[in-house]
Amino acid sequence: MMIRLRPEYASGGRALVELPGAVLHLVGIAGPMRDEMEDVVFLSQVHGGEVLRDPAGWEEGDGMILEGRRKCPGIRTADCLPVFFGSSGFSGAFHAGWRGIVAGIAGRMVMEYPERPEFVLLGNCICGDCYSVGEDVRRKVMMASFTAGHSPGGHSVHPPHGIDLKKAVLAQMAAAGLPDDVPVYTVPECTMCRGDLFHSHRRDGTAERNLQWLRMD
Ligand SMILES: [Zn+2]
Repeated sequence: MMIRLRPEYASGGRALVELPGAVLHLVGIAGPMRDEMEDVVFLSQVHGGEVLRDPAGWEEGDGMILEGRRKCPGIRTADCLPVFFGSSGFSGAFHAGWRGIVAGIAGRMVMEYPERPEFVLLGNCICGDCYSVGEDVRRKVMMASFTAGHSPGGHSVHPPHGIDLKKAVLAQMAAAGLPDDVPVYTVPECTMCRGDLFHSHRRDGTAERNLQWLRMD
């Protein structure tokens, strides 16, 4: 069940997205405001497949599960896809580019998340039309996410020369057992198309990062 959200962005890509029981904070090129991230946990992301349980912050890894409401999971990206999980006792997040998908990060989060997620949220990332990759990478992602297509024509869900990170992550989560009836929210803006809102490594090689974090009520 996919639900498209329409955030109202302030200049510089700042937005708050209300969900049942949680708020997603989006910070693009404007950057964070002082003190607003004191309870947010970020990791040293390495494009891997590890999901850490209750990290203190800045450990190497790309996924985290946090117990309770004291800390908020945060992800830093400049085209990769941030994904958030929320439920009554836990919250979680992971960072998925093509390497993370090949490493199985989305499936691992589904398998390690301790209770049934009340929702999943796919944040802003590069769109499939902008994210062109070589055939080797494309094939690896399709294999890891079961999106190579099994119809007679073998049609992939991806654009002809690209990767749709959201579709790959959704397929890998479904294969790992994410129940069909968990609502999946998505925010549609592409980090590369929307230079007025977001940093994009593909667009200009920036070292700056967009920040997204989930605050449970
Ligand atoms: Zn785009």
